Amino acid sequence: MRATVYKSTGSWYVVKVSDGAKPPDTYKARMLGKFKIDGLTSTNPIAVGDEVEIEMENELESGVTITKIYDRKNYITRTSPANKHQHHIIASNIDQSLLFATIKDPKTSQGFIDRFLISSESFHIPTIIVFNKADLYKKKEEEKFEQLKTMYEGIGYTVKKISVTTNEGVDELKTLLKDKVTLLSGHSGVGKSSFLNKIFPEMQLKTQDVSGWSGKGMHTTTFAEMYDLPAGQAGVPFGGKIIDTPGIRELGLVDIPKQELSHYFPEMRAVLNNCQFNNCMHTEEPNCAVKDAVNKNTIAADRYISYRNILDSIDEKKY
Ligand code: GDP
Ligand code: ZN
Repeated sequence: MRATVYKSTGSWYVVKVSDGAKPPDTYKARMLGKFKIDGLTSTNPIAVGDEVEIEMENELESGVTITKIYDRKNYITRTSPANKHQHHIIASNIDQSLLFATIKDPKTSQGFIDRFLISSESFHIPTIIVFNKADLYKKKEEEKFEQLKTMYEGIGYTVKKISVTTNEGVDELKTLLKDKVTLLSGHSGVGKSSFLNKIFPEMQLKTQDVSGWSGKGMHTTTFAEMYDLPAGQAGVPFGGKIIDTPGIRELGLVDIPKQELSHYFPEMRAVLNNCQFNNCMHTEEPNCAVKDAVNKNTIAADRYISYRNILDSIDEKKY
């Protein structure tokens, strides 16, 4: 039977079997033997979002085993804290990521946003950037939002402003989640839990269940978990899933050598073939198309500053 992985603890998995017509059947499954996937050394071969094949030996939950993992559309990884050369696959088969940010209380730095976007680019996942707490914005914050919106939309990202407190923009954002698998991320304190609880009240119960089960708050776990977005008005299925990844803040710059960094800035990628040197790092080299674009303002100076900061922070010794 084909199933989807909703939760992984490293030793067992929550999987659901769905035929689309009725509520899915949920099982607790184990994995037998070893899988090697995509040639990656991974500490957890099965990730949330994976499509798997399960076999049931008997009617007992303990008899459900995962026997095969279907090819992944994409996946996101994190370097294992214990071993930099080992990757921890956080989640797979993601349609888009939703980056929660705030301009006030707390302020999300542009550096944080840019690092996240680079990771998303490297995993080929489109990103929606949402600035929450719009109810707190005064003139200064509104101007900052407009500036960021112009900058990020100009390079292809979707940017929205919402307030979970007043509901501003919430319905519009909800429509962007329909029928998609969305990875939710952002610093703590930006309103992610409030957002989930507001638009999907049934989820609140679920969240509390999980907390009760683990004996700890939901956000103390680093395991990703996927949630079905509940049915909407009149019981019409809403469609779509959200993956919550409490550990995502460490979504670092996995495996990006200095030389390749500019490829993950879409606006730099678009011009770098015009640099005089094909190994141009867009710093001190002459006839650099990226620096030209910055001087002409077709690439935002703030993005170039981020690029230089991130470039400096990459430890080449890893490669
Ligand atoms: P998380 O860590 O990202 O899950 O953030 P929480 O959902 O726990 O929210 C952090 C704090 O921000 C809480 O005190 C929320 O009540 C508050 N908050 C969330 N959304 C809004 C909003 O739109 N406006 C304001 N003013 N506060 C908000
Ligand atoms: Zn260059």
